[in-house]
Amino acid sequence: QTFLHFNNNTYIEQLPSDYFYSFTKSKSIPEPYLISINDELMNNLSLSMIDRQEMAELLSGNKLLSGSRPVAMVYAGHQFGYFTSQLGDGRALLLGQLNQWAFHAKGTGPTQYSRGGDGRAVLRSSIREYLASEAMFHLGIETTRALSLVGSVLSPVYRETIETAAIVVRIAPIVAFIRMGTFELFSTRLQYQQVRQLADFVINNMYDKPLSSKNRYNLLLIDITHRTANLVAYWQAFGFTHGVLNTDNMNVIGSTVDYGPFGFVETKLQGYIPNHSDDEGRYAFDRQPSIAAWNLAKLRLAFDSLIESTYPINEQYEFWLYFNRTYDNLMRKKLGLTFYLQSDKWLYEEILRLLDLYHIDYTRFWRQLADDIIPNEIQNEHWYYVYKQRLALEGSYANKIRREQMNRINPKYILRNYMAQIAIEKAQKGDFNEIDRLFHLLRHPYDEQPDMNDYAKASPEWAKKIIISCSS
Ligand code: AMP
Ligand code: MG
Ligand code: MG
Repeated sequence: QTFLHFNNNTYIEQLPSDYFYSFTKSKSIPEPYLISINDELMNNLSLSMIDRQEMAELLSGNKLLSGSRPVAMVYAGHQFGYFTSQLGDGRALLLGQLNQWAFHAKGTGPTQYSRGGDGRAVLRSSIREYLASEAMFHLGIETTRALSLVGSVLSPVYRETIETAAIVVRIAPIVAFIRMGTFELFSTRLQYQQVRQLADFVINNMYDKPLSSKNRYNLLLIDITHRTANLVAYWQAFGFTHGVLNTDNMNVIGSTVDYGPFGFVETKLQGYIPNHSDDEGRYAFDRQPSIAAWNLAKLRLAFDSLIESTYPINEQYEFWLYFNRTYDNLMRKKLGLTFYLQSDKWLYEEILRLLDLYHIDYTRFWRQLADDIIPNEIQNEHWYYVYKQRLALEGSYANKIRREQMNRINPKYILRNYMAQIAIEKAQKGDFNEIDRLFHLLRHPYDEQPDMNDYAKASPEWAKKIIISCSS
């Protein structure tokens, strides 16, 4: 019986290897151990469990999956504002594609694009990606999803200290692994034929009906812009901060990819920087929208050879139009408002200002708002009076329905850094229970889970000492 058979390897079938990827064998790790498997995703993909040891061998890349011809994908990108002319999967491999799903393993050893790195990922950051991507998916935010987490105790990885190696298999449509920086790679090399080939590939693999019109590349760029704007609007509304928004970490389908030093905002909004290595706060929470717009300007340049000048494109205008629209909709939903008033923007911006000023926990504030629980510090401020008036305008819209609707956009449970940290420290001692516990908790972020209430509390004091950096 075959566990998984790749049947649709469009990336290697439709694109030539010399330019877009190189065939690469993974470097096996000793005694891989299946720490966790995403049962829900297994079901969705109609995959059935086999012997755990065999699965660990397959999902670590030690053994070749049926139909697999692993490749490392190549791309370039702007990292912290500076262009690097060639990056690529330095520690990851595209294992293959099953129907519309691409399987991408991270931590599989060195490739042609490793630039001196060891090609490994550590257990610590693999756990974070495994948990966070599942949490994001169930919050309703576009993301790659994790299928499996495999560890190997016998495989030391040298970072600041000696750590354990791990491999996460991520699943998403193939275009989720095509980055803005993939276009930049070819355009900066003046390889316009490859730019076109890549754009055609994206068009053929991202839409049910191909974009057939003459200005299809214009339409593609506009669509990528809208998807990106949408994604970032969700990040801002939920307080997700990616941490490393280089153009090689943003894809063309508009989903969250490459989890590293990410974090959810808690008591600080302006200048919240989850990535300890980001000294200047380039990728601070509040800067994400402008950074996305900046990245899109780079993508626009990479598209230059494709753009029909008879159809002018203003990707900046399109970005901000879509971003503001989606963000405004989400924030009004968080407030429990059903119809649009221009003044609602003042209301949520004032709330954000006050949360930041008084160091009030972002997620808890929104969740408790549905029950009219307001922190003391901001109860007597003007916004509350305005909000009450505004709710009155909603009229016959019953309070109970509003409460339910608010509870479906304001999560009770998010992945706080300290929660991941506890799971990591236990896992490093060989106890993987907390990973599964959080994995199941975060699948129902909007539900009351009475025996899990502790996970809905604000972070403990010691959480401030957790340092998350790019080293992963
Ligand atoms: P990231 O910060 O994970 O998005 O990685 C940025 C670039 O560095 C990508 O091209 C990665 O493949 C590469 N990279 C990161 N860590 C390693 C590693 N340990 N070995 C080889 N390449 C790496
Ligand atoms: Mg990356
Ligand atoms: Mg990476």
